[in-house]
Amino acid sequence: MAFALNTYPITYRSQFSEGKWKGGYLEKPHKTPEEEAALGVEDRAKLENSRNCYDDMPLVNYTSQYGLACFEGLKALPQKNGGLAIFRPDQNAARFARSMEGLCMPVFPQETFIEACVQTVKRNAQLGFYTRYNSDWEKDSYMSADSVYIRPFTMGEGGIGVNLSSEPYVMIINTPVSAYFKEGRSDAIVTNKVRANPNGTGWIKACSNYVISALAKSEALKAGYMECVYLDAVERKYIEEGSSCNIFFYLKSGELVTPELGDTILPGITRASIIELARDKGLKVSERKISIDEAMEEAKECFVSGTAAGATPLTSLTYNGKKAVFNNGNVGELTAEIRDTLKGIQYGKLPDTKNWLVQVL
Ligand SMILES: *Cc1c(COP(=O)(O)O)cnc(C)c1O
Repeated sequence: MAFALNTYPITYRSQFSEGKWKGGYLEKPHKTPEEEAALGVEDRAKLENSRNCYDDMPLVNYTSQYGLACFEGLKALPQKNGGLAIFRPDQNAARFARSMEGLCMPVFPQETFIEACVQTVKRNAQLGFYTRYNSDWEKDSYMSADSVYIRPFTMGEGGIGVNLSSEPYVMIINTPVSAYFKEGRSDAIVTNKVRANPNGTGWIKACSNYVISALAKSEALKAGYMECVYLDAVERKYIEEGSSCNIFFYLKSGELVTPELGDTILPGITRASIIELARDKGLKVSERKISIDEAMEEAKECFVSGTAAGATPLTSLTYNGKKAVFNNGNVGELTAEIRDTLKGIQYGKLPDTKNWLVQVL
């Protein structure tokens, strides 16, 4: 399973109250990883439930009632040299701060964010809860690789009237994660749902944005596709994103295009990293509008990008009953190269010349 709810024992929690963030680490019920692996289904479920429940937190709050919240997602990756390292946590810290600001919450300090990400991963690892490097992953370019997923998120304080959150919680949990997309299916379809409207929250990693994502993605899966692609809300013409990923098109002209950032597009850290890596390779990379017609006619490769997706090829795109197949349905050369470079850096197989990794172990 891509995202198992198998939270590691150490979590972090902070709350803004009396003008300050007051945080600390919690050690939830656990045994050793080996003992836990040997548990029967029922005992395992009981343990996982106890790890996921916080009896002292308010159930009726601005998040559970009105979806007012934001989150982050980043990974600690097992390193070829045996260590464990987090990919660009400073970028997630900065985006989390922007998201909270965008939701008019008191902003969580960026240094505390990074420190708490490092510490949860480190403390869980010290209890034996982490993923070890496996050299078999190199054979499929880390497509089958596991890692530790770090999920920081906000939760509103107790409240029932529609309101902003002035005393939010910030939580950080860790969970193991493997490949996000099912292998062997990479057809995408343009959805008629609108993910983000101008002057809305599309640029914020807001929980509420994911309602549309979940609906559109489930429609796509039911129709036999792996992914859906959104068009802009106004002209219904320009490509915006995948269901929860940014998107790139490698055109026949040799230009690599990704939609320009605006208030309806989430500024992905994988997106920014790929742009930098592709420019380093000497590619012409454009952040600009790309229409669905241009993409279907001119693209020879297409991939989506995100922490969970890495760089995952889309081998076809269907729109209004028309299907454009990229690279004869095979993973394109540039897509593979970018994926290999990104994964190589992330798993410590290639040198981290940009200092993107923060070592934990
Ligand atoms: C998180 C997210 C992405 C990808 O961001 P990364 O920082 O690369 O993980 C893209 N689109 C949406 C809508 C997202 O929520």
